Amino acid sequence: MAKKFYITTSSASVDKLPDIDFLLELLQADVLARYNRKKGKDVFFLTSTSEYGIKILKKAEEGKKDPQDFVNEVTLKYRIFIEKLNISNNSFIRTTDKDLHLKGTQKIWREMKEKGDVYKKKHKSSYCAECDAFVEKKKLVSGKCPNHGKHPENVEEESYFFNLSKYKEKIKEKIEKEGLQIFPRERKNEIICFLEEVEDVIISRPKEKLSWGISVPDDDNQTISNWVDALSSYLTALGYQDERDDFWRWWPPDAHCIERSVLVSHGAFLPGILLSLGLDLPKNIYVHGHMACEGKKKSKKLARSIDLFNLLEDWSSDIVRYYFLRESLTCKDGRFSYKKLKEECDIDLIDGLNSLVYRVISFARKMEINSTNIPRVCAGEVGKEIKKTEKQIEDFLGEYMLKEALESIWGLICFANKYTKEKEIMEKRKSGQEGAKEMLCLVHSLSKMLSPFLPSTAKKMEASLRDLKEENIFSKIPKK
Ligand SMILES: [Zn+2]
Repeated sequence: MAKKFYITTSSASVDKLPDIDFLLELLQADVLARYNRKKGKDVFFLTSTSEYGIKILKKAEEGKKDPQDFVNEVTLKYRIFIEKLNISNNSFIRTTDKDLHLKGTQKIWREMKEKGDVYKKKHKSSYCAECDAFVEKKKLVSGKCPNHGKHPENVEEESYFFNLSKYKEKIKEKIEKEGLQIFPRERKNEIICFLEEVEDVIISRPKEKLSWGISVPDDDNQTISNWVDALSSYLTALGYQDERDDFWRWWPPDAHCIERSVLVSHGAFLPGILLSLGLDLPKNIYVHGHMACEGKKKSKKLARSIDLFNLLEDWSSDIVRYYFLRESLTCKDGRFSYKKLKEECDIDLIDGLNSLVYRVISFARKMEINSTNIPRVCAGEVGKEIKKTEKQIEDFLGEYMLKEALESIWGLICFANKYTKEKEIMEKRKSGQEGAKEMLCLVHSLSKMLSPFLPSTAKKMEASLRDLKEENIFSKIPKK
């Protein structure tokens, strides 16, 4: 049986339309999923929408909509978005799913309770509506939420708690010994510091405060916190409620692609829940950097200030994919600008890749090459360059450095452009076919390397090689 690879994005909250952070998660998870498929692994690629919680209920009420109708509408947009980006997920779960998710989440709750890890307690806490979360008193800055600069609401209520302190040492050990690896390394230290002083966490709210959510089993007056049920989706999507074979085939996740604001829930809370259930922890968590718009610092408002649907309307999905994968740094924050998008498209995609393919194909036609007769493996200097690049891609992707992997492919494209131009002049004198065949072989190798990153482009390159027809491989480029 082929080796398995289970990868997820985080569960996107539908209080907003897809933003740049979710776009990055989708792209990065997609590259890794496609790359692992190419290597012959069986891949399960899950993405999901988190559809419960106070924020979402408020949005529905503002629009005078029934909450279920509201989440149905927004989730449909997420599905369209995922399709437009050409994402290869083979599963999609909604947290309002009544079968797999509801039953699975309640089973998880019951099991944690049977283990003695869930208890009910009256508490006085600070609740930030913007975060839709409790903020520890010691984390407040001059009495205000550190994320939003607003005074939180003081609440006094009864909730269920999860006994995280029981597991924190074990989680720390797993992370330190890299049983659970966190990329990039800076994030690993962040989570270890967090675990030093973490206490038990609130995992439910009274129904009158949180009505839009999954009820606590055997206690109808309480609702499970929506972050708990969002995290549960990684298990429920595999059929945890009846422990189908599928579940045991895929668990644990090989990689979670997430953004920084959910690092704590993935690096501390989720491992706690899994240890309580007696399950293996995920192997890797990859935290991506943020992307700012047009040189301004990222804030939630700015992230939404480019309309991603318009962007995908104006530009083909591979150009958008290239731009964001090339711009997103693992540790640092990237920047979005239309000027840069146009520049990169012109220089890297049109002048770099497109002109290479065009020139090679037209030379091969002149040399009257038969397309069924092209070698699949290159020898000599070209073969060496290809092997070197393949190794770089493998190494970079192993460290979740997607930008660097893509850059090494462009290093090969630069080499190919130079090499083929020189070769063309020589071969014209000899009117030989060998040089042209070698160039076609090089383009074929490039298309294979590019396929996880730019899947439509790779397909077009293969079609050009098959038909030996000079065609532009990038379409939909706005003139401006
Ligand atoms: Zn806040």
